[in-house]
Amino acid sequence: MSLAMRRTLSVVILALGMVGLWGWWRSPQGARAAKAEAEEAVQRAREQAAESDPRLKGAYRFERGGWIYVHLTGSPAALGFQHGFLLGPEIEDAFPAVAADMMHSTERDWPFFRQVAREMLWPKLDPEYQEELAGIAEGLHARTGSSLDVYDVVALNSFEEVPDYYVPWLNSREKTPHPPNLKSPGNCSAFVATGSWTKDGQIVIAHNNWTNYVNGERWRIIFDLQPTQGYHILMDGFPGVIASDDDFGINSAGLMVTETTISQFEGWNPDGKPEFMRARKALQYAGSIDDYTRIMLDGNNGGYANDWLLGDRKTGEIAQLELGLKAYRLWRTKDGVFAGSNWARDPKVLKLDTPDFDPNNLETSPNARRVRWEELLNQNKGQIDVALAELMLADHVDSVEKKSDPNERALCGHADTSARGVSIWAWAPYYPGGAVQAKATDSAMTKDMRLVARLGHPCGEDFHARPFLAAHPEYAWQEPYLRDMIAGPWTMFNASEHPPLTK
Ligand SMILES: [Zn+2]
Repeated sequence: MSLAMRRTLSVVILALGMVGLWGWWRSPQGARAAKAEAEEAVQRAREQAAESDPRLKGAYRFERGGWIYVHLTGSPAALGFQHGFLLGPEIEDAFPAVAADMMHSTERDWPFFRQVAREMLWPKLDPEYQEELAGIAEGLHARTGSSLDVYDVVALNSFEEVPDYYVPWLNSREKTPHPPNLKSPGNCSAFVATGSWTKDGQIVIAHNNWTNYVNGERWRIIFDLQPTQGYHILMDGFPGVIASDDDFGINSAGLMVTETTISQFEGWNPDGKPEFMRARKALQYAGSIDDYTRIMLDGNNGGYANDWLLGDRKTGEIAQLELGLKAYRLWRTKDGVFAGSNWARDPKVLKLDTPDFDPNNLETSPNARRVRWEELLNQNKGQIDVALAELMLADHVDSVEKKSDPNERALCGHADTSARGVSIWAWAPYYPGGAVQAKATDSAMTKDMRLVARLGHPCGEDFHARPFLAAHPEYAWQEPYLRDMIAGPWTMFNASEHPPLTK
């Protein structure tokens, strides 16, 4: 037992003794207060003991613009431990919210997701990511005393692929009676542009994340990852998850990465490797568009199937990797633009992987936003830079109504205002979801490992939970988790930047 652990233990014993003694002679309220005080003392002792853990060396966190920036560095186990420790409170907060949504939508219990994590996902993870995920559970425990173990952490990491990809596949295979209506999600609006399309002829990449507001309001981490192996990464992300997952990131080899999901995608390969690992691995190890494509294809499980938008600042080339399971396609150019708003376009992918998707129904959110992207990008050809990208991500034009209307068809999505819902993603009317945060960068900024990010709706509008729930009692089950989503300012982040000095 280390000195630090022994010290923790002695404080714990002392504190428990105090609780016992106080409870003996004080009133029930007094006893409760004493218990709370003692628990706090235990917590402080735990944190103090863990702070001297050598695995935390070089790691730190600070907050800016509402975002939590964490610098994680070292071996896979150290990266994980730092992640779990520095973001312990945020993981403890996010885990029950995500788990509740996974269980609610799939009508499955948590042991089901733990079993999927242990039996299907874990064996296919590369050892370095197993070590990192185990490190998250250890760091979390050291910080908060959490009882979550590594399989809970793996299940959390799979929240974008298991509920809406694996479970419907399983239900159909097992002929589950009355299966829940599960659809692959329609997450995000994004583009990547280069050549004559941008102001300086170099690459501009931008993305807003669409998700439910419960998760979206918690999607506020800037991960600055400096792993021992692979490239330095700067990406946004979610507490406890090793991939960006929404996804937006750059690496020190000059790769720029984002995506939007493929609506109405169907399929799963139980023998494949988890998407969250392939996405993280590709951002960590890809130095080119070819590398990126190779890593994403290796063990493709069909989970969280995306149109990946890529840029390589070294060559000025951009690409779109439409990654279905039965088919895929890669387009690339040094002079052009690729936009995404949750539609597939390759005829083979459309036919084999999204048989129900209708690319001609312009009234649905993906196609309405596709029309708007084309208008907006064409109007701004030759002028596109990061400042303009910020405005485009906040655009409210509904291409069906041909006017500004912040709803589920605007690039800056506000599905909670729409009586239509988005049935192709199983979003019911007034679904509390839409664009929840946004990021952008360009080639020059990527060279310096910088990006800008804004929390909340990219237009700056706030979402208020209480009036929403009062007006829409059908979402009352989210009440324990749904909070106000307050927009922050566009904020710049650099890799390896140090916490601002306070006091
Ligand atoms: Zn908006």
